[in-house]
This record gives sequence, C-alpha cells and structure tokens, in this order.
Amino acid sequence: MNDPQNPALVGLQRSLAERVFNFSPGPAALPTEVLHQAAEEMLSWRGTGVSVMEMSHRSREFEGIHNEALADLRELLQVPKNFRILFLQGGAIGENGIVPLNLASRINAAKPKTDFVVTGTWSVKTEQEARRYSEVNIVASSQDQKWHKIPDVASWKLSDDAAYVHLCTNETIVGTEFQEIPDIGQTGTHDKGRIVVADASSHILSRPIDWSRVQVVYGGAQKNIGPAGVTIVIVREDLIGFAHPLCPSAFNWRLVAEYDSMYNTPPTYAIYIAGLVFKWLKAQGGVPAIEQRNIAKARALYDFLDQSDFYRNEIDPSCRSRMNVPFFLRDESRNEAFLTQARANGLVQLKGHKSVGGMRASIYNAMPLEGVTALIEFMREFERTAA
Ligand SMILES: *Cc1c(COP(=O)(O)O)cnc(C)c1O
Repeated sequence: MNDPQNPALVGLQRSLAERVFNFSPGPAALPTEVLHQAAEEMLSWRGTGVSVMEMSHRSREFEGIHNEALADLRELLQVPKNFRILFLQGGAIGENGIVPLNLASRINAAKPKTDFVVTGTWSVKTEQEARRYSEVNIVASSQDQKWHKIPDVASWKLSDDAAYVHLCTNETIVGTEFQEIPDIGQTGTHDKGRIVVADASSHILSRPIDWSRVQVVYGGAQKNIGPAGVTIVIVREDLIGFAHPLCPSAFNWRLVAEYDSMYNTPPTYAIYIAGLVFKWLKAQGGVPAIEQRNIAKARALYDFLDQSDFYRNEIDPSCRSRMNVPFFLRDESRNEAFLTQARANGLVQLKGHKSVGGMRASIYNAMPLEGVTALIEFMREFERTAA
C-alpha cells in the first residue's frame, strides 16, 4: 500500500482529510485509527484472502476474532468470572422485551413483577415494553422535574417481590447519568436478593462498573463501542435459566450462553469492529485512563456553559452526563445559524433530540479533547459575532 498512485490509497487519504468532529448521539463516531485499520483489512483479513464480512462464523479465524473480543471486553470492564458476556442482535430496544422474557419470571412465574426507576425517554420506553410481560412498579420518576434530576435513592419505593430493578444509567436524550450505581442489594426484605439491571448503552466502557451493585448490564454497540448490530449483555450466571417458554430461542440467554453466542449467526462484522475498538481502548490505557479523559472533556464543556449567559445546560450538576451534553441558546431563533456555521467549521450532528430541542453534543470515548476544545472555541466565537 505504499504506491502513491494506488487509487485505494489515494481514496483513503482523501477521506482521512475529510474527517470532521462528529457529535452524533448514535450511531456515533469511531476512532479514526480503528476505521483506518478496518479499511486496510477490508479486502483480505491477515492473509486469508477474504474480508471478515465473508467469513463463516464457525471458521477458526472468526472464532479467534470473537474470543479475543470477549477476552478484551472482560479485561477492560473487569467482568468477574461468574458473569457471562453474550453478543446478541436486536439492540437495546430489543432488550426491553428480551430482559423481561428472560428474567421477569425469576421470583413468581405466575405473576411476574418488575421495578423501574424512570429518569428519561429511554427508561420510559423500557418500562412500557416491560408492561407486556410483567406487572410494572414505578419505583421513582423524575418526570415532574422535567427529567433534570435523578430521584434520590432514599425516595425510591422498591417492592420486595420484583424480579429485578431496572435503571437506565445514562439517559442519552435528556443528558443525565448515574455517577454511581446505588447499593440497594441489601435493602428491604427481599428474600431472594435484589437484582439490578442496567441499560448502559450510551456510557458502557466510559467508566468502570461496580459489579457488586449490578447483576445485568446491556447495551447496543453504536454509541460507545462500535457499529450498530451487536448488542452486549453481561449477566451473572445464576440469573440465566428463567426464560419464559415463549421467549424466542435466539434471545434465550441460556441457549445463547450454551452456544457461546453462536446459537444463530452473530453480527460478525460488528463484533470484529467492536474488537478493534477494545484493542484501541487498551492502547489508550484502558477504562481508567479513558474515564479521566472523559471527565476532562465533560468538565471543559460544562464549565464553559455555566459561565455563559448565551448558552445554558439545565441538568442538575449532581447527575450531568459525561457523554451527552444537551444545551440551549438563549436566543432560539439563532439555532439554524448555529448549526450551519458549526458544520462549516467541521463540527457536525449537534442538533438536539426533537423531544428536548436545542443542541446536544455527544462526546463519547472516541471524541478527542481537541474536538471538545474546537466546539468551545466555535461557541465562543459564535457568541461574540452574534452580539
Ligand atoms: C440508543 C439507546 C437505545 C436504543 O438502542 P437501539 O439500538 O435503537 O435499540 C436504548 N437505550 C439507550 C440508553 C440508548 O441510548
């Protein structure tokens, strides 16, 4: 690939030069190094003469890719030995049905009951889907506070016979994040032990996970891991085996675990790219190092918003997301101009979700500090020239 006349190389260099800072909430930016490596390996993976996309999922080569991705993810998140890592399809919205189908019958199969802490758009969707499979108890909700603050754990009304308690640990749309998972395992008189299930789609791998406080973690890959198509479920072993008889086999955790995520054809290419991202993360110093970088990025942006009269973030400082930063311009009639000029400055996908309005900067692991700095510089200049 050193021939300067090589059209593939010229094309690769041109597209490299065209890359911008992408603040998309998801599918989101991937590390350029990862895309570069995938491009180089696209036509032939390491001397095999075939693309990863063209490999049998049962081949020795793909088995290697798969096992390495599993081992790297386990190492990065320090997943204990008694937890299984499953790669499924269906996304996090799929899991909204798949989790209750696998777990709601754990305590009382005749009358399944589940607990939900509702902190924004995604947890609303999750509890509504769970109503099809279980009696849902809303433990706490921040709707009356416009989702701006996660309800204090002391106010949660946990039930003592629910199969699990569900949290969305980073609300991608409203921009709140649990700064830690509360320790609720021992509270109340729950004789079978409380189980916490977390939708971590939009912050998994951005910070460590305390496995003593959460027993099931799931997420779609397209926010902070890789391409859409692979869904990660990390589940404590003893919670596998409670699936409802009507649960589709491909989503039955027991079968998926038994077949090592090969009961059906897994999303092979998405797993391969996720694996490259895991290697990239390890090269960055792993989760503790990326967490420090995420803290610095978020602090820079929130500090800038807080000192400004021109922009504002409305989330309570105790639960602001490090990953998704919604903000508003004081003069909303300037929104279109803001987005157009941002785009012209190489800063894209900043428009807020339609249910919230305004802007949103998603600054996942793959967003470098330079991207956040460039955004802040642009915002300063936009404010100056708008005056
Ligand atoms: C994006 C997102 C989802 C939905 O993911 P799909 O892959 O579209 O199913 C669910 N939960 C959270 C927290 C998300 O950010």
